[in-house]
Amino acid sequence: MLFGRKNPFSATDAFPLSDAVLEFDDSSSGGARRARRTLDGFGMRAQRNARHQWVAGISAVLLFGLALAGFVALEVVDSTLWVVMAVSAVLGCVAFWMFTRSDAGKEIRHRHLRLGVVGLFLGGMLVLVYAAPVTQILLGPFAFVALSYGVFAVPRRMLLGLCAAAFLAYGLVIWVHYLLRQDEALLRLEVLHWIALVLSLPVFVVLMGKVQRLYRSLYQASRKIKNIQEDAKRDTLVGCFNRRYVLAALEEQKQLADETGIPLCLAVLDLDHFKRINDELGHLGGDEVLRSFSRIAQQGVRGGDVFGRYGGEEFLLIFPATSLLPALNTCERIRAQVESHAWTGLLRGRVTVSIGVTQYVLGESVLEFFSRADTAMYMAKEGGRNQVVVEEPVARGDSQAADTGADSA
Ligand code: GH3
Ligand code: MG
Ligand code: MG
Repeated sequence: MLFGRKNPFSATDAFPLSDAVLEFDDSSSGGARRARRTLDGFGMRAQRNARHQWVAGISAVLLFGLALAGFVALEVVDSTLWVVMAVSAVLGCVAFWMFTRSDAGKEIRHRHLRLGVVGLFLGGMLVLVYAAPVTQILLGPFAFVALSYGVFAVPRRMLLGLCAAAFLAYGLVIWVHYLLRQDEALLRLEVLHWIALVLSLPVFVVLMGKVQRLYRSLYQASRKIKNIQEDAKRDTLVGCFNRRYVLAALEEQKQLADETGIPLCLAVLDLDHFKRINDELGHLGGDEVLRSFSRIAQQGVRGGDVFGRYGGEEFLLIFPATSLLPALNTCERIRAQVESHAWTGLLRGRVTVSIGVTQYVLGESVLEFFSRADTAMYMAKEGGRNQVVVEEPVARGDSQAADTGADSA
Protein backbone atom coordinates (compact mmCIF):
# COMPACT_ATOMS: atom_id res chain seq x y z
CA MET A 1 0.00 0.00 0.00
CA LEU A 2 1.32 3.37 -0.97
CA PHE A 3 -0.15 5.86 1.40
CA GLY A 4 0.91 9.33 0.47
CA ARG A 5 2.67 9.17 -2.87
CA LYS A 6 2.99 7.10 -5.95
CA ASN A 7 6.21 5.38 -6.87
CA PRO A 8 8.71 7.61 -5.11
CA PHE A 9 11.61 6.41 -7.23
CA SER A 10 10.16 6.20 -10.70
CA ALA A 11 10.76 9.73 -11.91
CA THR A 12 14.09 10.31 -10.22
CA ASP A 13 17.65 9.96 -11.34
CA ALA A 14 18.62 8.63 -7.94
CA PHE A 15 18.35 4.98 -8.67
CA PRO A 16 21.05 4.40 -11.23
CA LEU A 17 23.40 3.06 -8.59
CA SER A 18 26.55 3.07 -10.69
CA ASP A 19 29.50 4.69 -8.98
CA ALA A 20 27.61 5.49 -5.81
CA VAL A 21 27.29 1.76 -5.22
CA LEU A 22 30.92 1.17 -6.17
CA GLU A 23 31.85 3.79 -3.65
CA PHE A 24 29.99 1.92 -0.95
CA ASP A 25 32.65 -0.72 -0.65
CA ASP A 26 31.02 -3.05 1.89
CA SER A 27 29.42 -4.81 -1.04
CA SER A 28 29.95 -8.31 -2.26
CA SER A 29 29.60 -10.72 0.68
CA GLY A 30 29.87 -11.11 4.42
CA GLY A 31 27.64 -10.69 7.42
CA ALA A 32 26.57 -8.34 10.15
CA ARG A 33 30.07 -7.23 11.07
CA ARG A 34 30.77 -6.02 7.56
CA ALA A 35 27.36 -4.42 7.25
CA ARG A 36 28.09 -2.31 10.29
CA ARG A 37 31.64 -1.46 9.32
CA THR A 38 32.29 2.24 9.56
CA LEU A 39 33.31 4.11 6.44
CA ASP A 40 36.49 5.54 7.82
CA GLY A 41 39.77 3.68 7.17
CA PHE A 42 42.36 6.40 7.58
CA GLY A 43 43.82 5.09 10.85
CA MET A 44 44.22 1.59 9.43
CA ARG A 45 45.89 2.99 6.32
CA ALA A 46 48.46 4.87 8.40
CA GLN A 47 49.25 1.71 10.33
CA ARG A 48 49.63 -0.25 7.10
CA ASN A 49 52.02 2.37 5.73
CA ALA A 50 54.14 2.23 8.87
CA ARG A 51 54.24 -1.58 8.57
CA HIS A 52 55.29 -1.38 4.92
CA GLN A 53 58.12 0.98 5.83
CA TRP A 54 59.43 -1.42 8.45
CA VAL A 55 59.17 -4.35 6.04
CA ALA A 56 61.05 -2.37 3.35
CA GLY A 57 63.81 -1.29 5.76
CA ILE A 58 64.30 -4.73 7.30
CA SER A 59 64.25 -6.38 3.85
CA ALA A 60 67.10 -4.11 2.71
CA VAL A 61 69.13 -5.03 5.82
CA LEU A 62 68.39 -8.75 5.29
CA LEU A 63 69.45 -8.56 1.63
CA PHE A 64 72.66 -6.88 2.65
CA GLY A 65 73.26 -9.61 5.25
CA LEU A 66 72.64 -12.24 2.57
CA ALA A 67 75.11 -10.61 0.20
CA LEU A 68 77.67 -10.44 3.00
CA ALA A 69 77.05 -14.13 3.72
CA GLY A 70 78.14 -14.78 0.12
CA PHE A 71 81.45 -13.04 0.90
CA VAL A 72 81.82 -15.24 4.00
CA ALA A 73 81.06 -18.36 1.94
CA LEU A 74 83.78 -17.36 -0.54
CA GLU A 75 86.10 -16.82 2.44
CA VAL A 76 86.91 -13.21 1.59
CA VAL A 77 85.24 -12.01 4.78
CA ASP A 78 85.68 -13.48 8.23
CA SER A 79 82.54 -15.12 9.63
CA THR A 80 83.06 -13.36 12.97
CA LEU A 81 82.66 -10.05 11.19
CA TRP A 82 79.36 -11.27 9.70
CA VAL A 83 78.12 -12.27 13.16
CA VAL A 84 79.18 -8.90 14.63
CA MET A 85 77.37 -7.04 11.83
CA ALA A 86 74.24 -9.22 12.15
CA VAL A 87 74.06 -8.68 15.93
CA SER A 88 74.65 -4.93 15.45
CA ALA A 89 71.89 -4.78 12.83
CA VAL A 90 69.41 -6.60 15.09
CA LEU A 91 70.30 -4.41 18.09
CA GLY A 92 70.11 -1.32 15.87
CA CYS A 93 66.63 -2.29 14.63
CA VAL A 94 65.38 -2.97 18.17
CA ALA A 95 66.85 0.32 19.45
CA PHE A 96 65.30 2.18 16.54
CA TRP A 97 61.91 0.53 17.11
CA MET A 98 62.04 1.47 20.80
CA PHE A 99 63.02 5.02 19.88
CA THR A 100 60.08 5.40 17.48
CA ARG A 101 57.72 4.33 20.28
CA SER A 102 59.22 6.69 22.85
CA ASP A 103 57.86 10.20 23.44
CA ALA A 104 60.91 11.75 21.73
CA GLY A 105 60.52 9.38 18.75
CA LYS A 106 56.83 10.26 18.36
CA GLU A 107 57.65 13.95 18.20
CA ILE A 108 60.38 13.65 15.62
CA ARG A 109 59.26 14.24 12.06
CA HIS A 110 58.83 11.28 9.75
CA ARG A 111 61.34 12.63 7.20
CA HIS A 112 64.01 12.93 9.90
CA LEU A 113 63.40 9.35 11.02
CA ARG A 114 63.86 8.16 7.44
CA LEU A 115 66.96 10.27 7.06
CA GLY A 116 68.27 8.61 10.25
CA VAL A 117 67.60 5.13 8.84
CA VAL A 118 69.41 5.92 5.58
CA GLY A 119 72.30 7.52 7.48
CA LEU A 120 72.64 4.52 9.80
CA PHE A 121 72.61 2.13 6.86
CA LEU A 122 75.30 4.08 4.99
CA GLY A 123 77.33 4.48 8.21
CA GLY A 124 77.09 0.74 8.95
CA MET A 125 78.33 -0.10 5.44
CA LEU A 126 81.28 2.29 5.81
CA VAL A 127 82.26 0.65 9.12
CA LEU A 128 82.20 -2.67 7.30
CA VAL A 129 84.32 -1.29 4.44
CA TYR A 130 86.79 -0.09 7.06
CA ALA A 131 86.94 -3.58 8.63
CA ALA A 132 86.95 -5.50 5.33
CA PRO A 133 87.90 -3.38 2.27
CA VAL A 134 86.58 -6.02 -0.14
CA THR A 135 83.02 -5.21 0.94
CA GLN A 136 83.27 -1.89 -0.91
CA ILE A 137 81.81 -3.95 -3.79
CA LEU A 138 78.55 -3.86 -1.81
CA LEU A 139 78.80 -0.18 -0.91
CA GLY A 140 77.79 1.21 -4.32
CA PRO A 141 74.67 -0.88 -5.03
CA PHE A 142 73.40 -0.79 -1.46
CA ALA A 143 73.98 2.97 -1.23
CA PHE A 144 71.49 3.24 -4.13
CA VAL A 145 69.08 0.96 -2.25
CA ALA A 146 69.39 3.08 0.91
CA LEU A 147 68.83 6.35 -0.98
CA SER A 148 65.82 4.90 -2.82
CA TYR A 149 64.34 4.08 0.59
CA GLY A 150 64.73 7.68 1.66
CA VAL A 151 63.86 9.44 -1.55
CA PHE A 152 60.04 9.52 -1.17
CA ALA A 153 60.11 11.02 2.30
CA VAL A 154 63.34 12.96 2.72
CA PRO A 155 63.81 16.30 0.93
CA ARG A 156 66.41 16.30 -1.80
CA ARG A 157 68.81 18.74 -0.15
CA MET A 158 68.87 16.61 3.01
CA LEU A 159 69.74 13.53 0.96
CA LEU A 160 72.44 15.48 -0.91
CA GLY A 161 73.83 16.62 2.46
CA LEU A 162 73.84 13.02 3.64
CA CYS A 163 75.66 11.96 0.45
CA ALA A 164 78.30 14.66 1.05
CA ALA A 165 78.80 13.41 4.63
CA ALA A 166 79.07 9.80 3.38
CA PHE A 167 81.68 10.82 0.75
CA LEU A 168 83.73 12.56 3.44
CA ALA A 169 83.49 9.53 5.73
CA TYR A 170 84.40 7.18 2.87
CA GLY A 171 87.37 9.42 2.00
CA LEU A 172 88.46 9.18 5.62
CA VAL A 173 88.21 5.38 5.52
CA ILE A 174 90.35 5.32 2.35
CA TRP A 175 92.94 7.58 3.97
CA VAL A 176 93.08 5.45 7.16
CA HIS A 177 93.35 2.29 5.05
CA TYR A 178 96.35 3.78 3.26
CA LEU A 179 97.97 4.93 6.49
CA LEU A 180 97.59 1.50 8.06
CA ARG A 181 98.33 -0.70 5.04
CA GLN A 182 100.45 1.42 2.68
CA ASP A 183 98.80 -0.55 -0.14
CA GLU A 184 98.90 1.55 -3.34
CA ALA A 185 96.82 -0.88 -5.38
CA LEU A 186 94.07 -0.78 -2.76
CA LEU A 187 94.32 3.01 -2.62
CA ARG A 188 93.87 3.29 -6.41
CA LEU A 189 90.91 0.93 -6.38
CA GLU A 190 89.22 2.72 -3.49
CA VAL A 191 89.80 6.16 -4.98
CA LEU A 192 88.29 5.00 -8.30
CA HIS A 193 85.34 3.59 -6.44
CA TRP A 194 85.01 6.83 -4.46
CA ILE A 195 85.01 8.89 -7.67
CA ALA A 196 82.36 6.65 -9.23
CA LEU A 197 80.12 7.13 -6.20
CA VAL A 198 80.74 10.89 -5.99
CA LEU A 199 79.72 11.26 -9.63
CA SER A 200 76.71 8.97 -9.64
CA LEU A 201 74.92 9.18 -6.27
CA PRO A 202 74.10 12.95 -6.39
CA VAL A 203 72.83 12.57 -9.98
CA PHE A 204 70.64 9.70 -8.80
CA VAL A 205 69.25 11.84 -5.96
CA VAL A 206 68.54 14.76 -8.30
CA LEU A 207 66.81 12.54 -10.88
CA MET A 208 64.82 10.79 -8.19
CA GLY A 209 63.73 14.25 -7.03
CA LYS A 210 61.63 14.44 -10.21
CA VAL A 211 60.01 11.12 -9.34
CA GLN A 212 59.50 12.47 -5.84
CA ARG A 213 57.69 15.53 -7.21
CA LEU A 214 55.52 13.31 -9.41
CA TYR A 215 54.74 11.11 -6.41
CA ARG A 216 53.78 14.18 -4.38
CA SER A 217 51.48 15.52 -7.12
CA LEU A 218 49.82 12.11 -7.41
CA TYR A 219 49.35 12.04 -3.66
CA GLN A 220 47.80 15.52 -3.66
CA ALA A 221 45.57 14.61 -6.61
CA SER A 222 44.37 11.48 -4.83
CA ARG A 223 43.58 13.55 -1.70
CA LYS A 224 41.59 15.97 -3.84
CA ILE A 225 39.70 13.11 -5.49
CA LYS A 226 38.90 11.71 -2.05
CA ASN A 227 37.57 15.09 -0.93
CA ILE A 228 35.47 15.37 -4.08
CA GLN A 229 34.14 11.85 -3.55
CA GLU A 230 33.32 12.73 0.05
CA ASP A 231 31.56 15.95 -1.05
CA ALA A 232 29.60 14.02 -3.66
CA LYS A 233 28.05 11.93 -0.89
CA ARG A 234 27.00 14.92 1.18
CA ASP A 235 23.94 17.12 1.11
CA THR A 236 25.21 20.62 0.50
CA LEU A 237 22.63 22.28 2.74
CA VAL A 238 22.64 20.13 5.87
CA GLY A 239 25.84 18.10 5.63
CA CYS A 240 24.40 14.59 6.11
CA PHE A 241 24.45 12.00 3.30
CA ASN A 242 22.52 13.07 0.21
CA ARG A 243 19.65 11.39 -1.58
CA ARG A 244 21.83 9.70 -4.15
CA TYR A 245 24.13 8.18 -1.57
CA VAL A 246 21.43 7.09 0.85
CA LEU A 247 19.41 5.38 -1.90
CA ALA A 248 22.52 3.62 -3.18
CA ALA A 249 23.26 2.51 0.38
CA LEU A 250 19.69 1.25 0.73
CA GLU A 251 20.00 -0.85 -2.42
CA GLU A 252 23.36 -2.10 -1.24
CA GLN A 253 22.08 -3.09 2.19
CA LYS A 254 19.05 -4.79 0.66
CA GLN A 255 21.33 -6.95 -1.47
CA LEU A 256 23.48 -7.70 1.56
CA ALA A 257 20.40 -8.68 3.58
CA ASP A 258 19.26 -10.96 0.71
CA GLU A 259 22.67 -12.64 0.64
CA THR A 260 23.12 -13.07 4.38
CA GLY A 261 19.64 -13.02 5.87
CA ILE A 262 20.67 -10.45 8.47
CA PRO A 263 17.90 -8.04 9.47
CA LEU A 264 17.66 -4.58 7.96
CA CYS A 265 15.43 -1.69 8.95
CA LEU A 266 14.51 1.62 7.39
CA ALA A 267 12.93 4.78 8.78
CA VAL A 268 11.43 7.73 6.92
CA LEU A 269 11.56 10.98 8.93
CA ASP A 270 9.53 14.06 8.03
CA LEU A 271 9.50 17.34 9.94
CA ASP A 272 6.04 18.40 11.02
CA HIS A 273 4.39 21.54 9.66
CA PHE A 274 7.60 22.68 8.15
CA LYS A 275 5.83 24.96 5.75
CA ARG A 276 4.62 27.00 8.74
CA ILE A 277 8.16 27.23 10.08
CA ASN A 278 9.27 28.53 6.70
CA ASP A 279 6.41 30.99 6.61
CA GLU A 280 7.27 32.37 10.02
CA LEU A 281 11.07 32.30 9.91
CA GLY A 282 11.70 32.60 6.21
CA HIS A 283 13.58 30.02 4.15
CA LEU A 284 16.94 30.81 5.75
CA GLY A 285 15.45 30.18 9.21
CA GLY A 286 13.93 26.97 7.86
CA ASP A 287 17.33 25.91 6.50
CA GLU A 288 18.83 26.43 9.95
CA VAL A 289 16.14 24.17 11.45
CA LEU A 290 16.98 21.50 8.85
CA ARG A 291 20.66 21.70 9.81
CA SER A 292 19.92 21.47 13.52
CA PHE A 293 17.57 18.54 12.98
CA SER A 294 20.19 16.74 10.90
CA ARG A 295 22.76 17.25 13.66
CA ILE A 296 20.41 15.96 16.37
CA ALA A 297 19.50 12.89 14.32
CA GLN A 298 23.11 12.07 13.48
CA GLN A 299 24.08 12.31 17.13
CA GLY A 300 21.34 9.80 17.93
CA VAL A 301 22.39 7.08 15.48
CA ARG A 302 25.16 4.49 15.69
CA GLY A 303 28.32 4.44 13.60
CA GLY A 304 27.08 2.00 10.95
CA ASP A 305 23.64 3.55 10.49
CA VAL A 306 23.19 5.63 7.35
CA PHE A 307 21.30 8.88 7.76
CA GLY A 308 20.62 11.02 4.70
CA ARG A 309 18.36 13.70 3.29
CA TYR A 310 15.84 12.27 0.86
CA GLY A 311 14.58 15.71 -0.20
CA GLY A 312 13.04 18.85 1.29
CA GLU A 313 12.36 18.19 4.98
CA GLU A 314 12.32 14.40 4.55
CA PHE A 315 15.13 12.12 5.65
CA LEU A 316 15.93 8.41 5.51
CA LEU A 317 17.65 6.37 8.19
CA ILE A 318 18.99 2.92 7.28
CA PHE A 319 19.74 0.48 10.09
CA PRO A 320 22.04 -2.23 8.71
CA ALA A 321 22.13 -5.49 10.69
CA THR A 322 19.43 -4.23 13.04
CA SER A 323 16.07 -5.71 13.93
CA LEU A 324 12.87 -3.76 14.43
CA LEU A 325 12.96 -3.16 18.17
CA PRO A 326 16.37 -1.43 18.39
CA ALA A 327 15.53 0.54 15.23
CA LEU A 328 12.26 1.65 16.82
CA ASN A 329 14.11 2.64 20.01
CA THR A 330 16.56 4.78 18.02
CA CYS A 331 13.69 6.46 16.14
CA GLU A 332 11.87 7.18 19.38
CA ARG A 333 15.08 8.61 20.86
CA ILE A 334 15.52 10.93 17.87
CA ARG A 335 11.88 12.01 18.03
CA ALA A 336 12.18 12.81 21.75
CA GLN A 337 15.49 14.64 21.27
CA VAL A 338 14.04 16.81 18.49
CA GLU A 339 11.05 17.65 20.66
CA SER A 340 13.11 18.46 23.75
CA HIS A 341 15.87 20.31 21.92
CA ALA A 342 16.49 23.84 23.17
CA TRP A 343 14.87 25.55 20.18
CA THR A 344 14.85 29.31 20.57
CA GLY A 345 12.28 32.06 19.96
CA LEU A 346 9.35 31.19 17.74
CA LEU A 347 10.61 27.66 17.35
CA ARG A 348 10.35 26.75 21.01
CA GLY A 349 8.12 23.68 21.36
CA ARG A 350 7.19 23.74 17.69
CA VAL A 351 9.77 21.60 15.94
CA THR A 352 8.73 17.96 15.90
CA VAL A 353 9.22 15.02 13.58
CA SER A 354 7.05 12.14 12.43
CA ILE A 355 8.80 8.87 11.78
CA GLY A 356 7.77 5.65 10.08
CA VAL A 357 9.92 2.57 10.50
CA THR A 358 9.82 -0.95 9.15
CA GLN A 359 11.92 -4.07 8.68
CA TYR A 360 13.01 -5.53 5.37
CA VAL A 361 11.26 -8.68 4.15
CA LEU A 362 13.67 -10.97 2.33
CA GLY A 363 13.21 -10.85 -1.42
CA GLU A 364 10.99 -7.79 -1.61
CA SER A 365 11.98 -4.83 -3.78
CA VAL A 366 13.54 -1.66 -2.44
CA LEU A 367 10.40 0.14 -3.56
CA GLU A 368 8.16 -2.15 -1.46
CA PHE A 369 10.47 -1.74 1.50
CA PHE A 370 10.60 2.04 1.19
CA SER A 371 6.85 2.30 0.62
CA ARG A 372 6.12 0.46 3.87
CA ALA A 373 8.30 2.86 5.87
CA ASP A 374 6.78 5.80 4.00
CA THR A 375 3.28 4.53 4.73
CA ALA A 376 4.16 4.27 8.42
CA MET A 377 5.39 7.86 8.32
CA TYR A 378 2.11 9.05 6.79
CA MET A 379 0.25 7.12 9.48
CA ALA A 380 2.27 9.01 12.06
CA LYS A 381 1.11 12.24 10.41
CA GLU A 382 -2.46 11.06 10.40
CA GLY A 383 -2.19 9.99 14.02
CA GLY A 384 -1.36 13.53 15.09
CA ARG A 385 2.36 13.94 14.18
CA ASN A 386 5.35 13.92 16.55
CA GLN A 387 5.29 10.14 16.84
CA VAL A 388 6.91 6.96 15.59
CA VAL A 389 4.82 4.36 13.80
CA VAL A 390 5.96 0.85 13.01
CA GLU A 391 4.70 -0.91 9.92
CA GLU A 392 5.43 -4.53 10.73
CA PRO A 393 6.91 -6.64 7.95
CA VAL A 394 4.60 -9.28 6.55
CA ALA A 395 5.94 -12.49 5.04
CA ARG A 396 5.79 -12.36 1.25
CA GLY A 397 2.59 -13.75 -0.18
CA ASP A 398 0.59 -12.86 2.89
CA SER A 399 -1.97 -10.42 1.59
CA GLN A 400 -2.95 -9.07 4.98
CA ALA A 401 -1.03 -6.04 5.99
CA ALA A 402 -0.34 -5.87 9.67
CA ASP A 403 -0.25 -2.36 10.97
CA THR A 404 0.60 -2.10 14.59
CA GLY A 405 -0.03 0.73 16.95
CA ALA A 406 2.01 3.85 17.25
CA ASP A 407 4.64 4.53 19.83
CA SER A 408 3.35 7.92 20.56
CA ALA A 409 4.89 10.91 22.25
P1 GH3 B 1 3.65 17.89 7.33
O1 GH3 B 1 3.64 17.99 8.78
O2 GH3 B 1 2.40 17.30 6.76
O3 GH3 B 1 4.85 17.23 6.79
O4 GH3 B 1 3.64 19.38 6.81
P2 GH3 B 1 4.80 20.14 6.10
O5 GH3 B 1 4.45 21.58 6.07
O6 GH3 B 1 6.10 19.80 6.71
O7 GH3 B 1 4.82 19.43 4.70
P3 GH3 B 1 4.86 19.94 3.25
O8 GH3 B 1 5.42 18.78 2.45
O9 GH3 B 1 3.54 20.46 2.82
O10 GH3 B 1 5.91 21.13 3.23
C1 GH3 B 1 7.27 20.93 3.23
C2 GH3 B 1 7.91 22.26 3.11
O11 GH3 B 1 9.30 22.15 3.19
C3 GH3 B 1 7.61 22.94 1.80
C4 GH3 B 1 8.92 23.51 1.33
O12 GH3 B 1 8.85 24.89 1.11
C5 GH3 B 1 9.85 23.24 2.48
N1 GH3 B 1 11.18 22.93 2.03
C6 GH3 B 1 11.56 21.96 1.18
N2 GH3 B 1 12.89 21.98 1.03
C7 GH3 B 1 13.37 23.01 1.78
C8 GH3 B 1 14.67 23.55 2.02
O13 GH3 B 1 15.68 23.08 1.50
N3 GH3 B 1 14.78 24.61 2.84
C9 GH3 B 1 13.66 25.16 3.43
N4 GH3 B 1 13.82 26.18 4.23
N5 GH3 B 1 12.44 24.69 3.21
C10 GH3 B 1 12.28 23.62 2.40
MG1 MG C 1 6.80 17.81 6.69
MG1 MG D 1 7.32 16.27 3.56
